[in-house]
Amino acid sequence: MPAPTNKRKQPKERRASARKKTSHPVVGKEFNYVLQLTGEDTLLLKRYQDILAQGAAGFAEKTYNYMFDNPDIADVLYAYERQGGNIGDLVRGQLEHQLNLLNGDISEKAAAESERLGRTHYRWGVKPVWSLGAYRLYVDHIKQLVASESGIEDEDRDALESALLKVVFRDLAITSEGYWRAAVEQLTDQRDELGHEQDLAGELLSNIPQLLWTVDIESNRISYASPGTQAFCGETLEAPIPCFYRIPGSERERVLTAWQQVIDGSPVQLELPVSHEDTGDRWYRLAFYPTANRRGRVLRVHCLMEDVTELHSDRERLEQLSTQDEVTGLANRTLWYDRLASALAVARRNPGASVAVMVLDINQFKMYNDSLGNEAGDELLRMIAGRVQKVLRDTDTLARLGGDEFGIVLPMVQNAEKAAERVAREVMNALSAPFSFKNRELCLSSVIGISVYPQHGEDAHTLASHADSAMYRAKWNSAPFLFFETEVDASATEHLQFSGQLHGALEREEFELHYQPKIDLASGRLCGAEALLRWQHPQQGLVLPKRFIPVAEQLGMISPITDWVLDTALEHSKHWLVDGEAVAISINVSARSFQSPGLISRIRQSLDKAGVDGSHLEVEITEDTLMSDLDLGASILEELSTLGVSIAIDDFGTGYSSLSYLKRLPINTLKIDQSFLEDMANDPRDAAIVRSIIELGHNLNCKVVAEGVEAQNVREQLKQLGCDLIQGFYISRPLPDAGFREWLTRAAH
Ligand code: C2E
Ligand code: MG
Ligand code: MG
Repeated sequence: MPAPTNKRKQPKERRASARKKTSHPVVGKEFNYVLQLTGEDTLLLKRYQDILAQGAAGFAEKTYNYMFDNPDIADVLYAYERQGGNIGDLVRGQLEHQLNLLNGDISEKAAAESERLGRTHYRWGVKPVWSLGAYRLYVDHIKQLVASESGIEDEDRDALESALLKVVFRDLAITSEGYWRAAVEQLTDQRDELGHEQDLAGELLSNIPQLLWTVDIESNRISYASPGTQAFCGETLEAPIPCFYRIPGSERERVLTAWQQVIDGSPVQLELPVSHEDTGDRWYRLAFYPTANRRGRVLRVHCLMEDVTELHSDRERLEQLSTQDEVTGLANRTLWYDRLASALAVARRNPGASVAVMVLDINQFKMYNDSLGNEAGDELLRMIAGRVQKVLRDTDTLARLGGDEFGIVLPMVQNAEKAAERVAREVMNALSAPFSFKNRELCLSSVIGISVYPQHGEDAHTLASHADSAMYRAKWNSAPFLFFETEVDASATEHLQFSGQLHGALEREEFELHYQPKIDLASGRLCGAEALLRWQHPQQGLVLPKRFIPVAEQLGMISPITDWVLDTALEHSKHWLVDGEAVAISINVSARSFQSPGLISRIRQSLDKAGVDGSHLEVEITEDTLMSDLDLGASILEELSTLGVSIAIDDFGTGYSSLSYLKRLPINTLKIDQSFLEDMANDPRDAAIVRSIIELGHNLNCKVVAEGVEAQNVREQLKQLGCDLIQGFYISRPLPDAGFREWLTRAAH
C-alpha cells in the first residue's frame, strides 16, 4: 500500500543524515530460508509470468473498491488529494508493486524496494492492517487466477499457488520489517535527541549558581534536585525545603507562610538569610512556583534558590545612602518621615494610641561650627547624637533633620504628652554636661518643640511642622521645650516661611524705613521722628516688622539689620531741617541687638559716618529687653548716655519693670503703650493707668510719649493728663523719607 498522506512528522534533517551512515542490512536470504522459497519456485513463476499478468486490470478494480469502501483509508486518500497529490498515480504505484511480485523477483534490490515501501508507510501513517487487507485481496486474486487460467498446466497449479503465496508472504514480511525499522529508528532518534537535551540540561544545572528542586506535594518528597542543591544541602534532602535548618529561627515562620501560599496555588518569592559553614551567613532569594492539575490542585512545586547577597548589600547601601545622615549615621529627614508615617499608621489601628513628634534644636551649634570649624561641628553633632540616642528606647527614632536640628518619633505611647515631656527633660539633661573637643569644654543648650498625634495633627507633615513651630516658639520664649498650641503657632509657622527669603533681603535692598513724627503736646512743635522698618517682600508687598523681626532675631540676622537702620535713619534725618535744626531720630533696638557686644561701637561709627551728634539719636528698647539682663542693660545704657544718645522705654506698661531699678538708669523717655490709649476715653481704669505712667515718668525725670494716638479727644485727654509728646495716625502715619520731607514742609506752613 502506498503512502497517501503525511500524517507523521518528517524526521529532522539532522537525524536523517545520521541514519544515512548506518546502511540497511540486506533483507532476503533468511526470508527465503524460512519460507522455503526455492529456485524451482522462481522458475515456475517466471514460466507463467505473462499469464499471471493478464488479470491485472480486474485486480486493480478490486483494490480501488477496497480503498474507497474503507472510510478511514478513503479519508486519508482524499486528504492526500486535497494537498495536491494524485490518487490515480498512487493506486497505480501500489498495483505495479504487487504485480511485480508475480515476476518472482527475489533479488536484494527488489527486497530493498519493499523494505523502503514499509518505511514509507510508516512515515505517511499508513496502518499495517490496511496493507494486510490489500494483500488479502491479492491472495484472493492469485488463487482465482491460478485456479481458472487455462494456460497453466494442471499439475503445476498447486506448486504455482504455493510459490505465489510464499512471494506474497515474503513481501508482506519485508514491508512490515521496513515499517517497524522506521519506527524504531525514529524512536531512537527521539531518544538520542532527548538524551542530548538532557545532557544539556544536566550541564546547565550543574553549572548555574541557582539551586533548583521539585517537590511532589502528594508524597511530600523531593522528586528532583539539581546537583548544586545536593552539594549545598547535603545528600539526604529533606522535603520541602532541604536547607530549612540553615534558616534562622526568626525567619522560618515567613518561609512556612510562603510554602502554604504556594500550596494554595500562588507563586511566592522571598528573601532571607541562610547560613553555611563555608560561606557564613548569606542572603538568598527563594522562589516557589506551583504546577497544578486542571482542577487547580497543586501537584508539584518547583523551587529556586539564588544567592543575592551582593544585590542585597548594594540595595542596603543605597537605602542607607538615601536614608542615612552622613555625619551622624542617624536616620535622615526622609527616613524620619517614613518612620513617623508608619508609627501613625500603627497608632491609627490602635484606638487610644498616640505618637509624639519632637524637634530638637541646638542653640549654640552655629557659633561653635563657625568659630571652631566644620570638623569640630561634625564631631559635636556625633556626640550630641550619641547622648540623645542613649535616652531613647530602641523603638524610638532619632534623626538628623539638617543643620543642628534633630527629630524624634516616640511611637505608640499611651500618654504621649507625659512621655514626651519626660524624654524632653532627659534629652536636656543629657546635653547639659559640657562636651569636650580637643581639650576644650563646649557648653550647649537645647530647645525642643513637641506635637502629639492625634491632638495636634493627623499626618506626618502636619505633625512635623507643628513640632517645628513649637520649637521656634520655645526659642523665642527661652523655654526649654514647648508643646504645639494651635493658635499661637499658626503665626509662628508663617514667620518660618520668611526665614529663607529673609536671607539676602538686605543685599537685595528690600528693606526701607518709614518715619513717624512726634509732637510736643503743649507747643504743637515737631520734636522727633521714629524710624519704623518695612520689608518690600518680592511677592507679598510691604511686610510689617512684627512679622519678620522675630524671625530675623531668631536667625541671628538682626544685628546687620539694626546697623542698616542706624545708618539709613541718621543719613535721612540729618537732612530734615526744622528752623535750621536737624530733627532727632528714634530707632528701635530689639533684645538681641541690644545685648550684642558690638552695639555701642557700631552706634559710634554710625554717628561719625553721618557726622551728627549723639544727642540727635534716641534708642527705643522695651521693658523686657532691659529687664532680661539688668546688669548688662544698665551698663549699656550708661555707655549710650555717655555718647549723648537718649534712651526711651518702648511699650511701657506691658512688661514688668522694676521701678527701683528704673530710677537708677539714665532713661530719658517712657512711651506709653498704645493699648492703654485705645479705650482710655471710655474706660476710667485705662485712664488711671495712663495718668500713673505719666506721673511715674515725670518722677523719673523722663518725658512721656503716648503712641498710637488716633483721635482728637484722646489727644485732648492726654494733654489734660500732662502727657509731654504724642505720636500716632492722628498726627501722621509712618511715611517714607520723601513723604516725610513733604509732611515737614506742609507742617512748617
Ligand atoms: P513700636 O516701636 O511700638 O512702634 C509703634 C508701632 O505703632 C508702629 O508699628 C506704628 O506704625 C504703629 N502706630 C503708630 N501710630 C499708630 C496709630 O495711631 N494707631 C495704630 N494702630 N498704630 C500706630 P509698626 O511700624 O508696625 O512696628 C511695630 C513694631 O515693630 C514696633 O513697635 C517696634 O517694636 C518694631 N520695629 C519697628 N521698626 C523696627 C526696627 O527698625 N528695629 C526693630 N528691632 N524693631 C522695629
Ligand atoms: Mg518704637
Ligand atoms: Mg511701642
